[in-house]
Amino acid sequence: MPKSPAAHSLPCRTDVLISGAGPTGLVLAASLRRLGVDHVLIDRDAGIQPGSKAAAVQPRTLEYLDRIGVGAALVERGKKGRGFCLRDRDRTLLRACYDRLDTPHPYMLLASQQTTEEVLARRLVELGGAVHREHRLLGFIADFPGVTATVAGPDGAVHALTARYLVGCDGIYSTVRTAAGVAFPGDSPEQLFALADVRLAPGRQTTTSDDAAFYLSEAGLLLMSPLSDGLHRLVAPVAAGTSAPGADDVERLLATRGPAGKRQRVLEIVAASTYRAQERVAEQFRAGPVFLAGDAAHTHSPAGAQGMNTGMQDAGNLAWKLHAVLSGAAPETLLDSYHRERQPVAAQLVALTSQFARIATLADPAASRRRNALLAAAAATPGITDWLAATLAQLDIAYTDEPDLGHPRPGTRVSPLAVPPDGLRWTLALPGEPRRGITASRRGELAVRYIRNLPTTLLVRPDGHLAASGVPGDPATVAERLGQYLPR
Ligand SMILES: Cc1cc2nc3c(=O)[nH]c(=O)nc-3n(C[C@H](O)[C@H](O)[C@H](O)COP(=O)(O)OP(=O)(O)OC[C@H]3O[C@@H](n4cnc5c(N)ncnc54)[C@H](O)[C@@H]3O)c2cc1C
Repeated sequence: MPKSPAAHSLPCRTDVLISGAGPTGLVLAASLRRLGVDHVLIDRDAGIQPGSKAAAVQPRTLEYLDRIGVGAALVERGKKGRGFCLRDRDRTLLRACYDRLDTPHPYMLLASQQTTEEVLARRLVELGGAVHREHRLLGFIADFPGVTATVAGPDGAVHALTARYLVGCDGIYSTVRTAAGVAFPGDSPEQLFALADVRLAPGRQTTTSDDAAFYLSEAGLLLMSPLSDGLHRLVAPVAAGTSAPGADDVERLLATRGPAGKRQRVLEIVAASTYRAQERVAEQFRAGPVFLAGDAAHTHSPAGAQGMNTGMQDAGNLAWKLHAVLSGAAPETLLDSYHRERQPVAAQLVALTSQFARIATLADPAASRRRNALLAAAAATPGITDWLAATLAQLDIAYTDEPDLGHPRPGTRVSPLAVPPDGLRWTLALPGEPRRGITASRRGELAVRYIRNLPTTLLVRPDGHLAASGVPGDPATVAERLGQYLPR
């Protein structure tokens, strides 16, 4: 990996201090770097932590990662999964397949969180950025109009760093959230889960081998998902006090809950642990100059592979807004829209994953038979599996309450297949014959695209959501009036 420049010299002033260089902090830093926003990214750890966490990157996240020039590199390192299925032993109850999704990435990218973080960190360095490792945020005080943070360096020396904005990307036990006094209400369900990343003996491939499969039998839940490098992840609810699973435990779970038939052998356990999920959403994602993003703002059951993805998209939502405000192109109030847009997304996600976890872990055999019959019936209902695939792929996230009456609604996602993006620039899509290369407004704020058969002009935000439709066809006019098209 290229060397991180200036990783040791912590400045005493910055526009944006980001605490936490997990996936959320890395995406935010790379985005700000791309936009030319002055920032400092710190992390208390000496390097990227190995271990089993997120294993899937959703299409919507990949669309954003393309904008910061990192999608292709990540896709190269991962394996393309085709979607999710719910099964009862060998019977498929419901399959949410990504193949037909309207996205340049119609698949779930299976890549370890460690790989994702490595690729992001490399991109950040390529863009001229850095992570100040072994720098722990201790706290901060209000220092109008921003904050002064105290940071302990690798040698224990404490530094004061003044920042116009502070973003807590520092995970579930966020120091920033605590110091800001933001409540983190929710539940801590008792259910313990065992997780193992394993290498299985070859054979026993099924037609849905490229899917993450939730086995929902009367014996209980077992999630079995392919990973990159020929590994599989297995997750199952276990009794309180159970320790990390060994090969025998995994084989037993497979034999009693997984595909029926010959016993599946485990050749190697690469990682094993137990965990308890929490289900919480921060009451505010913004408190004055302080923002929360990623697990610092929301946490939930990992079922459905959504958490890391949501964090990275929080970063995408916040980055362009910070840039717009700091560059004077937008009023400070634009930053309030970060909470308004992202908090409901997190709240819905927690509700969805919590409901799914409850349904999937039913203990009563009769109830689980009824559940499976209902799921199979739901799968036969037209549109249900496509809706589920788009929801899990996070393609249906929209920042609008307007009902869908068939016309473009500000706040909805614009497919990059319909209007190809140009990095983190705003895009003005005009009806017309597509032209080679990208034209731009005079000062370069807007990329201009000509799209055949486009019914009306579209203005697309840097994070891929629609800002407005039916805007003037003259790029200079739109660039001048950009302030009118900001979320209210
Ligand atoms: C078993 C398991 C499976 C999962 N599977 C999936 C999945 O398939 N898909 C998915 O999308 N999500 C999944 N998740 C969730 C995912 O791992 C998290 O949502 C993701 O790590 C959140 O990223 P983050 O950057 O917000 O926070 P974190 O990854 O927690 O990063 C926080 C960073 O902040 C740093 N930090 C903390 N405190 C300080 C401080 N005071 N000063 C400086 N630095 C600090 C930490 O060192 C860390 O690097 C899974 C989680 C688990 C546990």
